[in-house]
Amino acid sequence: RPRVSARIAGITPSATLAVDAKVKALKAEGRPVIGFGAGQPDFPTPDYVVEAAAEAARNRANHGYTPAGGLPELREAIAAKTLRDSGFQIEASQVLVTNGGKQAVYSAFATLLDPGDEVLLLAPYWTTYPESIKLAGGVPVQVTADESTGYLVTVEQLEAARTERTKVVLFNSPSNPTGAVYPREHIEAIGRWAYEHGLWVITDEIYEHLVYDGAQNHSLPVVVPEMADRTLVLNGVAKTYSMTGWRVGWIAGPLDVIKAATSYQTHLCGNVANISQRAALAAVAGPLDIVHEMRAAFDQRRRTIVSMLSDIPGVECPTPQGAFYAYPSVKAALGKEIRGQRPADTLELAELILREAEVAVVPGEAFGTAGYFRFSYALAESDLIEGVTRVGNLLAEAK
Ligand code: PLP
Repeated sequence: RPRVSARIAGITPSATLAVDAKVKALKAEGRPVIGFGAGQPDFPTPDYVVEAAAEAARNRANHGYTPAGGLPELREAIAAKTLRDSGFQIEASQVLVTNGGKQAVYSAFATLLDPGDEVLLLAPYWTTYPESIKLAGGVPVQVTADESTGYLVTVEQLEAARTERTKVVLFNSPSNPTGAVYPREHIEAIGRWAYEHGLWVITDEIYEHLVYDGAQNHSLPVVVPEMADRTLVLNGVAKTYSMTGWRVGWIAGPLDVIKAATSYQTHLCGNVANISQRAALAAVAGPLDIVHEMRAAFDQRRRTIVSMLSDIPGVECPTPQGAFYAYPSVKAALGKEIRGQRPADTLELAELILREAEVAVVPGEAFGTAGYFRFSYALAESDLIEGVTRVGNLLAEAK
């Protein structure tokens, strides 16, 4: 019998973490690598959050387990924050605090899916989604949009992919990796269609505050209130408060599902680290100043990266309106000769760029669509300019 189970052996490790690990290793060797791989803000966690955690750590009262679903004060604060930020009205009992948004994704699927249930996965998708669906016994059914529609999947496409086994639609706006923000009418159309066909929606709103050019995040169960009973909203503190390392996310949804997911969590991990929950409480109960500052910095970099990428011949980069990613098509560069090689796909091209230009990008294969690169612009603007310049110079050699 195999040493590792088929279920776990079948997982593709996170490509974004792999790219980031490569960058860290090369930097440790002293190489001047520029990494566009990491999906994390390059700002420190706000002082008042760090202080709250330090104070919590010194207090014995916080040295034990918390209730599995999360600290009651934190669940209250998340319910209040959800109403404040998206208008979605929930009780504290409808919140499950998880180890980051990542665990929220996995637990949501584990709680909703039976073996063989299909999930419509809007692509380009965040690399963790299909693996979580499969781990939970579900079947990801990819529905893909490209740059010609600004990466927005239509209801017609979803309807064409729907079968009797379809149970869930996985929705993520603002999107990782494309930065696309679905307009309100579009969300309404998807929500109504899901309602009509008895489907569930999991909507990942982790980038809710990172929107630009006047774009707005609209929460599906607010736009289509009939869906509130069949929607799980995923969120977390990582991107909004620059708290990726603290590992706090949550699921908000109907009480029966939250209860079931909480019961699962009692065995899965018990609870999220008490101190991290105290830090998250200070974050979500506090102001949004830090995210407004970050947003202004990201917006500036977004403009720079989109204009620089668009200037590279053969690169096509729709303007992202959210998150901190640009997702250009580089299809025109494939199959051409660069420094004696002819990369056939974006996996090979990304490797070539890392080797020859010492710039790390994540190939589109990781997000279900070959022919693209994801650039995270959560890095210093000077590095951003240098990195894209190097990529442009290398691609200019293609013949
Ligand atoms: N959802 C999306 C779309 C993401 O991009 C990420 C992080 O990259 C997460 C959820 C999870 O973030 P975390 O587990 O750090 O809270």
